[in-house]
Amino acid sequence: MIGHIQFQENLRLIRQRIEQACIEAGRDPQAVELLPVTKNHPVDAVCFAAEAGLTAVGENRVQEAQEKKAEDSGGLRWELIGHLQSNKVKDAVAVFDRIQSVDSMKLLQRIDRLSGELGQTMPILLQCNSGEDPRKYGFLAPQIAEAMESALQAEHLRLEGLMTIAPLDEDPDSARRAFRALRILRGELEERFAHPLPVLSMGMTGDLEAAIAEGSTQIRVGTALYGNRDV
Ligand SMILES: *Cc1c(COP(=O)(O)O)cnc(C)c1O
Repeated sequence: MIGHIQFQENLRLIRQRIEQACIEAGRDPQAVELLPVTKNHPVDAVCFAAEAGLTAVGENRVQEAQEKKAEDSGGLRWELIGHLQSNKVKDAVAVFDRIQSVDSMKLLQRIDRLSGELGQTMPILLQCNSGEDPRKYGFLAPQIAEAMESALQAEHLRLEGLMTIAPLDEDPDSARRAFRALRILRGELEERFAHPLPVLSMGMTGDLEAAIAEGSTQIRVGTALYGNRDV
C-alpha cells in the first residue's frame, strides 16, 4: 500500500487526466465525479480519500466494506460496485449508501424488500453489460427496460442511473463502443419512461478518457490512485 504523499501525487495526476479528457470532450470537469475504489486495500486507502476531501468510496465486497466502515467514521458515502449475492443483500443494504451493481431482477426485488424492512430507500444504478461480454454481470440491452420499469415501481428503490464495466479486450475501441452504447441506451430509457437517469458510472484506470468522451458522470478509479491490489 502506498503512503500519503504518493496518494496525493496520484490524485493530482488523475485530476489532470480528468481535466484533459474534459477539455478534449468540451465538458465541464465538475460534471465528472471521481470515485476512489478502495477494494483490496487497507482502511488507510479510505482515510486518504476522506482527508483529500473526496466524499465517497467504492468497494466490491460486503464484508470488507463493513470492516472498513467500522474503522472509519469519516462520513463518506459507501458505494457497492461488485456483484452482490442474494444471501448478502441484507448486510449490503445496511452498510452501503448506493448499490451500483444491480444486475438481475431477482436482486432488484430483494434489495427493494430488504430496504423496506429497514425502513429506508436505497439509491441504485442498473448495471448493464453494454459490451455484451459473456464474462461480465449485468443486464443486456433488451432486458434493461423491464428492469427500469420494476425499479421505478419499487417502493424502496431510487433509480439514479446506469453503470457498466467495459469488456476485457485488446481492442482499444471496444471500451469506447460499450460506453457509447450505454449513453445511447440512457437517452432511450429516459425518453421512454419520461424519467431522468442522471448518473452514468463508467470508466476505470485504463479507460477513463474514453468514458469521459462518451459522457461518463462518475469514473471508478482504483489502480491509478492506490497502485496495484495485492490479490
Ligand atoms: C476494481 C474496480 C474498479 C477500479 O478498477 P481500476 O482499474 O483499478 O481503476 C472499477 N470498477 C469496478 C466495478 C471494479 O470492480
